Formats: sequence, C-alpha cells, structure tokens
Amino acid sequence: MTTPAPHELRLTAEQMRALGHQVVDLVVDHLSGQRDRPVHRRVAAGEVDHLLDEAIPEHPADPGGLVDFLAAEVLPRSLHLGHPGCLAFIPSANNFLGVLGDFIASGFNVSPGAWFVGAGPAAIEQVTARWLAELLGMPAGSGGVFTPGGTVANLAAVAAARHDRLGDDPAAAVLYCSDQTHPAVLRACHVLGLRDALRLLPGTGHRLDPDLVRREVEADRRAGRRPFLVLANAGTTGTGSIDPLPELADLCREHDLWLHVDGAHGAAAAMTSRGRAALTGLAEADSIVVDPHKWLFQPYEIGCLLVRDPTTLYRTFALERFRAHAGYLDLTRPSPDEVNLSDHGVQLTTSARALKLWLSFKGFGVTAFRAAIDRGLDLTEHAAGLVGRSAELELLAGPSLGILCFRYRPPSAPDTADLDAVQHRITEAVNASGRFMIATTTVHDQRALRLCTTNPRTTPADLDALFTDIMRAGQALE
Ligand SMILES: *Cc1c(COP(=O)(O)O)cnc(C)c1O
Repeated sequence: MTTPAPHELRLTAEQMRALGHQVVDLVVDHLSGQRDRPVHRRVAAGEVDHLLDEAIPEHPADPGGLVDFLAAEVLPRSLHLGHPGCLAFIPSANNFLGVLGDFIASGFNVSPGAWFVGAGPAAIEQVTARWLAELLGMPAGSGGVFTPGGTVANLAAVAAARHDRLGDDPAAAVLYCSDQTHPAVLRACHVLGLRDALRLLPGTGHRLDPDLVRREVEADRRAGRRPFLVLANAGTTGTGSIDPLPELADLCREHDLWLHVDGAHGAAAAMTSRGRAALTGLAEADSIVVDPHKWLFQPYEIGCLLVRDPTTLYRTFALERFRAHAGYLDLTRPSPDEVNLSDHGVQLTTSARALKLWLSFKGFGVTAFRAAIDRGLDLTEHAAGLVGRSAELELLAGPSLGILCFRYRPPSAPDTADLDAVQHRITEAVNASGRFMIATTTVHDQRALRLCTTNPRTTPADLDALFTDIMRAGQALE
C-alpha cells in the first residue's frame, strides 16, 4: 500500500486497526467501569474555555493522541445517563451491540431511504419496525419509520394525522392534549403551524379527562372549527402518567379523530405483561411513538413512529407530492413492489438507524429485553416500598412506567415553600457525592424528588443506598 496522500483523507489499514482497537478499549473500559466512576461532574464556567478557544487545526495531529484527549478532556465532562446511579431525566442505558450497530452503519455509510440506494438496510428498517409494532400489540399490517428521536417522530405523526383528516390545511384545525404533554411535542406542533390549534387541557391526576375532551370537541365543531387529533400520553416524562387510552379510542372513533399516543418513554413497557396491562388500549391508536434510545437501551439517536396504516405516511410524505426539479432522483423511483422509506417521513438521507436495534434484538433476544424492562418496573416498586415504609417520605405520584415521585417531609413539617426548598437541597446533597444523580419535578404544584428506574443495571441495593443518602441529607437539614 502506498502512503496515503493528504487529499485522500485516508489512513492505512494498519492505522485504522490500531486506532479502532484503541477506541474499542476506551468504550469497553467506559461501559464496564461506569459504576466506579462519578455519574456526573459539574462543569464550572470557564472549565471548557480551552475547547472553545481552539484555533482551526490546519495541520495533522496524531489521531491516537486526539482520542486520548477526548477521553481526558471532553467525555468525562458530561452526565453519564447509562450509569447505574443515574435516576434523573430518562436514563439511557445503551448496550454494546447497539454501539456496534452504529459503528457498522457509519463505517459502511449506507442509507435506507431509497430502495435503489439501500435495499438491504431498508429491509432491516421495515422488519424491525414491524417487530416493534407487533411487540406493542398493534394489528398486522402496521409499520413505521425510524427517526432521530421522539421529537421528529411526534412531528411526523401530527403531520400525517393532519394530512389524513384535513388535507394539510391548518385553517381552524384543533387538536387536544393534556398539559402534561412533553414540550418537545408542543414545539413540534408549533413547527407545523399548529400553535393556535392546540387545546392544552388540564389533566385530572395528570390524565386527560375524556369527558372534557368530548365537550371541547363538540363545542369546537359547533363553532365551525375542525378537530382532527387527540394526542395522548403513554408515560408522561414527569410522572409516567398514562391517559385513559380505551376511552379516548372510543371518543376518537365516535368523532372521526386520529388517536396518536406519545409513548416515547413508556410505550416499550407494553412488551411486558405488567406494562401491557397498564397500557390497555395502546394498540387501538392510529399512531404510536416509541424511543428505542430510551427504554430499549439503544445509543442516541433512534426514535420510531408506528402507524396502523402505513399508507397514511406515504400519502403525507411521498416526495412525488413535492417534486419540482428533481430529475436527479429518477434513478431512485421505486417500482410498485419496492419501498422508498424517505417517502414515509420527513428526512431524505438518514443513517441506517435500525441496524443497532436489529443487532441487539437478535443478539440478546427479545426475551432479554422484556426482562430488562421488567427489571425497571421492579426497581420502581422497590423504591415505592421504601417510600411507603418511611415516616418522613410522602408518595406524590406513581409508581408508573418506571417513574416515582415523592418528597421528604420531616416530622416538624415546615410550610409548603420550605418543603419545596428542602427537596432542592436534598437533591443537591445527594448528587454532590457523584454516586447518584436524581432530579426534582413538580407534582400538583409541589416539588417532588423524581426517580426514573429504567436502567436494568441499577440494583435494589443501589436504591437502598440512595434512600439512605436521601434520609441523611433530609435529617441534616433539620
Ligand atoms: C423524550 C420524550 C420526547 C422527546 O423525544 P426525543 O427523543 O428527546 O426527541 C417526547 N415525549 C416524551 C414523552 C418523551 O419522554
């Protein structure tokens, strides 16, 4: 092999192998030693100035040294969402087969968007989406597309619902959801020009009230407006709450509305019998969003939109509808028995995202995924038991779909404002140790400690230690 010329942007095979080994070692050390390192290190302003102020690197540097630099200076300066002590936000306990899937997708740089370009990867996307639809209980014939995450998947769902029911015309359109809906979903509605269409209804116990929705729909119809969509939640990010899906499905049938369920966090639980029971009615939805980069243990990014009738996606997004001067795409026009997945969503070129999910589903087997999700449900129950057995802890919401909200309420119960401050100070004290990362949220206007226990590598003993820390922090404040 000749020595690569600079313009080739190429390494020799030996260099690539050596660097590859270095990177694999780095990642394996990270994944197998996470528990022994801090879950988070707070980064002071100014601490990353040396990264921000760097000049353009005109000349080559040793790539191995650069990998070392990333390992020392960049990667530790973040929250490790896959750390077994991370119970804040929605943890993301990625798996190594998923990591390899991303590496392969990136190394081959195949794109599943057009059959002509990537028929093999497209087939993997289609079969993996079908598995997901089946695992969530959706009827045969359901299918979907993979997206960067829940935000884009929800955006595509709302766009498909609008096209299906209103033909893209946003005039007088109305959609209904609870005030617990994820802000990223509301932002997606704004992006679609549906800001004024949103009816953000107060939840009853964090759940959408079907009677209230019915009254709103009827009033909107009488006023000449055009209701088209109920956007329900299957596991709100704050409390894991589930909207009454069977009742909402009846309502939607009755009023010819599209039922979309945002299950970015929670829908994956339907793969287990406990989750399936909690999510009764899920499979009646016209569309469901699930984020494999959350409770299906995949590295970022991968979201998924599943629809009961995949032709609704084609009718909404087919490039054919928008084609102006695109002769250069003629070669990629599919024949009738081929599918161009880019006709089913908002992106044209995508990475072969489903490879990682396919590789980890097949490599570990779906039974192991069910057990991993079940483990998360067990952990929330365990934490709820600890709350129940403590005189100082008060349950505020859950356990629901891996999420539990509670607060520390000392016997000398101070007033509400003080109690809110107490939760903040406990959180700060617990997180300062670097063993755990927890967060607070608001439940019925009260500050709560919030745990999301979806990392299957977290143990009951971890939770026992966390609660010891919480109690100690609370007692220290008295
Ligand atoms: C995380 C989340 C989203 C947003 O998904 P991203 O993957 O972060 O884009 C939307 N809805 C719910 C319920 C979520 O938990």
